[in-house]
Amino acid sequence: MELWQQMVRDSVHSVDQLVERFGIERQTAEDLDEFFQARINPYYLSLIRYPGDPIWLQCVPNKKELEDIGAEEDPLMEDAMSPVPNITHRYPDRALFLVTSQCGLYCRFCTRKRKVGDYDKISMKGLESAFRYLEQHTEIRDVILSGGDPLMLTDIMLEKILQRIRAIPHIEIIRIGSKMPCVLPQRITQRLCDVIKKYHPVYLNTHFNHPWEITPESSKACEMLANAGIPVGNQMVLMKNVNDDPATVKELMQKLLKIRVRPYYMYMADETKGANHFRTSIETGIEIIENLRGHTSGLAIPHFVIDAPGGGGKIPLLPNYVLHKDNEKIVLRNFKHKIYSYKNYHDRNNPELVNLKPVDGKNGKQKIKAIKVTKVKLPRMEKIKA
Ligand SMILES: *Cc1c(COP(=O)(O)O)cnc(C)c1O
Ligand code: SF4
Repeated sequence: MELWQQMVRDSVHSVDQLVERFGIERQTAEDLDEFFQARINPYYLSLIRYPGDPIWLQCVPNKKELEDIGAEEDPLMEDAMSPVPNITHRYPDRALFLVTSQCGLYCRFCTRKRKVGDYDKISMKGLESAFRYLEQHTEIRDVILSGGDPLMLTDIMLEKILQRIRAIPHIEIIRIGSKMPCVLPQRITQRLCDVIKKYHPVYLNTHFNHPWEITPESSKACEMLANAGIPVGNQMVLMKNVNDDPATVKELMQKLLKIRVRPYYMYMADETKGANHFRTSIETGIEIIENLRGHTSGLAIPHFVIDAPGGGGKIPLLPNYVLHKDNEKIVLRNFKHKIYSYKNYHDRNNPELVNLKPVDGKNGKQKIKAIKVTKVKLPRMEKIKA
């Protein structure tokens, strides 16, 4: 058994441990265990500094999880958008491929609790039909291995999956979504990197939420992946009392860049059963982005997105930088709240309408004919007094 596998086995997981270590009432611990089992591996456990700290909140079961038991289990409608078991196909050219229900740690805020934990929640029998779906759907050029955590698979099993996907000619890129670099960095071995790099281009998105998760171990894991030519991105979830303030997020983003991880998404915490106590306001997310843009490296700034309930996909949100826009100009404000006017340009998306006159169309219908004026000045920056 490899070290990381032993560490998963040594996780805090039982009701007795929850009662003894974290002082949870027995009945509550039993209810929590029934709802979504605990798994806190010794590495992540060692990052806890005091009860209720940002690390604790992410992994220790909390009785608040039992309060919103009526909330949606699958708010993103991933199951409804699943044409065959193990595949979620929401976007035109990419698909999510769930390859295991196991994770190196069970996050209390997980939106996929319905899929995670028990072995039978994602069946390995579904792999074959999933592969066939990917083979037949030539519009899919990007496959995202997810779960659970794909790096819970052994190197051998992972290689079988990568090999099979790489053999599909229309699949251009493979992505791995894994929390392991953050929660169990011992999983990132040289052997694993050597397996993955045979199937390039492979990208990996990991999931750091707090600066305390950047340790010598997790730094080394991310650097090993980068050294194997695997671009590593980060998907953070915005959570109350974990990372819902601008200074914490800025520190995390800057520290990620230092270990060669590029911030990718910052998600609003989804409205999911058992996780609503982590939700923040949208304004808090906007404030965090506002505090990054212009104030630090553009590379440190993730896209702030809401994964729309009902399966609408990720929708980006930005602070409002546009104060006014019309056919002739746009009025913007910068990160210091100074105001600038910028001349708009005319092209097919913004014809200069000098004369709108109705003309008779076919079948007696009225058509609006736009007369374009060709004389256009180049746009130039114009500073207005703020
Ligand atoms: C997030 C997600 C993707 C990938 O989205 P990108 O914006 O390309 O990173 C693909 N499929 C599903 C179902 C997703 O939730
Ligand atoms: S690693 Fe991902 S899938 Fe697993 S429990 Fe955490 S958030 Fe959920």
